[in-house]
Amino acid sequence: MQLEKFSIGIGDRFAHQGVAQLRGIMKANESGLGISPVWNKSNREHSYVGSKPADVKKEAEHAVATLGFTGKYFVDADHINLSTVEGFIESSNFFTLDVAAYIGKASSEAEVNSFVAASKKYTGSLQIPGMKQPLEVTEQLLKDIAAKFLAATQQASAIYQYIESKKGKGNFITEVSMDEVESPQTPVELLFILKMLADLKVPVQTIAPKFTGRFNKGVDYKGDLKQFAREFEEDVLVIDFAVKEFGLPSELKLSVHSGSDKFSIYPIMAEVIRKYDKGLHLKTAGTTWLEEVIGLAKAGGEGLDLAKKIYAAALGRQEELCAPYADVIEIDGSQLPSIEEVNGWNSDKYVNTLRHIQDHPDYNANFRQLIHVAYTVAAEMGTTYTDLLKKYEDIIGQCVEENVYDRHLKRLFSL
Ligand SMILES: [Zn+2]
Repeated sequence: MQLEKFSIGIGDRFAHQGVAQLRGIMKANESGLGISPVWNKSNREHSYVGSKPADVKKEAEHAVATLGFTGKYFVDADHINLSTVEGFIESSNFFTLDVAAYIGKASSEAEVNSFVAASKKYTGSLQIPGMKQPLEVTEQLLKDIAAKFLAATQQASAIYQYIESKKGKGNFITEVSMDEVESPQTPVELLFILKMLADLKVPVQTIAPKFTGRFNKGVDYKGDLKQFAREFEEDVLVIDFAVKEFGLPSELKLSVHSGSDKFSIYPIMAEVIRKYDKGLHLKTAGTTWLEEVIGLAKAGGEGLDLAKKIYAAALGRQEELCAPYADVIEIDGSQLPSIEEVNGWNSDKYVNTLRHIQDHPDYNANFRQLIHVAYTVAAEMGTTYTDLLKKYEDIIGQCVEENVYDRHLKRLFSL
């Protein structure tokens, strides 16, 4: 099983927007791109919303059937590990093996030494084709990389083997993710992580490293764009080298877990993948939920009232809602409007404050991040929330489609 060259991971917390999301992708595919949709949902999201992996599969199938989509599509068991994978076996055909928790876990001296011995031929100045400077690989560097990543790659192998034993070889996509950590992996680390995965016969098809900079949820990238550009390009070159050198799947590509809306790095990634004719998996998440709130606010009446209620509840529970996302949000509380103020807003004011149009004078990234983590508030509202999603389906669907196509795919593929 293979992904298309380009694929986009789309999250949908409440599983109502699959059709609208796919409409946005199909619109981009009219230009001949052939982007594969990948509906992704993590165990954490399922537990907060009270949904099941089978619901995601159902949603994907429904969207594909409704729109007569004939391309490949996937259902991603996002950020699973050995203890959570079981529930996803049946309904997923894409597995993101999250081994971040194993980075830095001790390996035996014998294992480290055997990796270093097997990698000896790469010591010295290692010229990766296309890279301006050769990588300087010392024995100490190999030791450090082994100490840091051997256990994580062994864990990836264990999860992979388990899935393979259940689903059969070649019947699913394998992604390995190490993005949910504090410090980014360097291109040379990525190179040897890929060697470890190849040694363990993990047929990794997409790899999600942690990149330099901040990937806060639902808002733009924060960091050194030049450094990101250099790192992203070097990662692409390292992958190309690793595929040929270690015999990894030829379609192996980078997966960027973007936390959504990293618009300022889109042109950088676009340029690099065009330059080397490479693929990309871009995982977004959570902004479909924001488009639901935007659509409700836009609808006015009880829709706008509910959007205001969601904000009021979120503001009162800020600490609790933000806690699980502490590393990936930055909210300046002094910039959050009061409940009274928001209750006085009309549709336009609410929509423009929340919608991700950064140069709009009303846009407020703090407000946006708080709503981003507030989906549990809506989940607790149950049918009060989902009934309004149905009632305002058209207006919300337009917002979702516009978000996927106009703000993401158009930018990424210069459409
Ligand atoms: Zn991730």
